[in-house]
Amino acid sequence: MNVVDVELYETQLDLLDRAIQEGGRDESREEAVRRLALDHVVDRLGGASSYVGGRAKDDILESESPSYGDERTSVTLPPVTGKALPVYRGEVLRIEQLAGGQCVDFNAFNLHDYKEFLDCGFTRSFQSFDPRQGEFIWTNAPRGRPMFAILHIADTCELDIVGHRCNRIFEELGWDMPVHPNCQDTLAESIREYGLTPDDVHESFNLWMSTDIGPDGRRQFKWNPARKGDRIDLLALFDLLAVAATCGIGDLVGINNYTFTPVAMQVFEATATTRGLVEAIEERWGRLPSQQRREDFAVRDIQASPELIADPDYTPSFLPLPGLETVTVSLTESDKVVVDGLLKTGVYGTTPGEALRAAFMRWCNTNLTLVRRPKLLFT
Ligand SMILES: [Zn+2]
Repeated sequence: MNVVDVELYETQLDLLDRAIQEGGRDESREEAVRRLALDHVVDRLGGASSYVGGRAKDDILESESPSYGDERTSVTLPPVTGKALPVYRGEVLRIEQLAGGQCVDFNAFNLHDYKEFLDCGFTRSFQSFDPRQGEFIWTNAPRGRPMFAILHIADTCELDIVGHRCNRIFEELGWDMPVHPNCQDTLAESIREYGLTPDDVHESFNLWMSTDIGPDGRRQFKWNPARKGDRIDLLALFDLLAVAATCGIGDLVGINNYTFTPVAMQVFEATATTRGLVEAIEERWGRLPSQQRREDFAVRDIQASPELIADPDYTPSFLPLPGLETVTVSLTESDKVVVDGLLKTGVYGTTPGEALRAAFMRWCNTNLTLVRRPKLLFT
């Protein structure tokens, strides 16, 4: 009999206890670590990867398709221009192709607190790299709230929420054109109307940006399939400043099919059904204990000066590290052969304790902890 010490944090022990409870067996923690680690090996033999993560299960809110109110405002964005428009809670913002083939860069801010803004990273993480109808666009950490619900999105509206916005530096490095229209400058010029600076432009949620990653690991620009009349409709979940720009690099790369065309922004008033849907979404995903608000911050005021100066009275106050405990697991000779096999793969650490912990936790990541992915289902 071989005895192995497995160090587990309290959080990992909680998962272990859940697994024991859900397994409905009368077993000790020691027995459960051994069993679940071996179950992970069985999963591997069945073709599962050693690496796990990113698994999600849809968290569905069913709703009738809401009816929009009257058009409140409408603007046309000629080539290489943009516009910042307030969109109030329950209103629907439509962005529409007036001729087709146009990439649109998109930013958005909380109208009452601009440090909360659209975040492509959270949207990728909580939804996917390609959110579609019924999914959400999220705000940045630590706010992390659903900002828009996608009510409609044309099939041609390919999204690039991995890339950047085009900018002067890219244009100088690529074409030796240091002063040429670009989305960074267009977005900055649009938000200047509201007193924001070029630094406040953030990672763009790129609409009708048809790209992929080529075999060399670099982005490829494809043909833009957008047709006249294709649109995306976004339900505002709180008061927002929405900013769209017609991409300024259309003449230089293929994302606009080597030309520029105009797009329209329209805002439709809130109705009882859009307001009801906003409330249901907020109730479900907009008031989580984890979503911090400005009131929760230790420092609430935005610095007026760009210079950073250390606070002499500062004492750090981090969240506490979970406590660590040791679970001693007894392995039979054949168990030991399996654990030695895991170590030989090079991706389970360097000691039997690390290998058992990694195998047990990978079992948890596959079977116990799935990330809830918020989604609307229109009935
Ligand atoms: Zn652009």
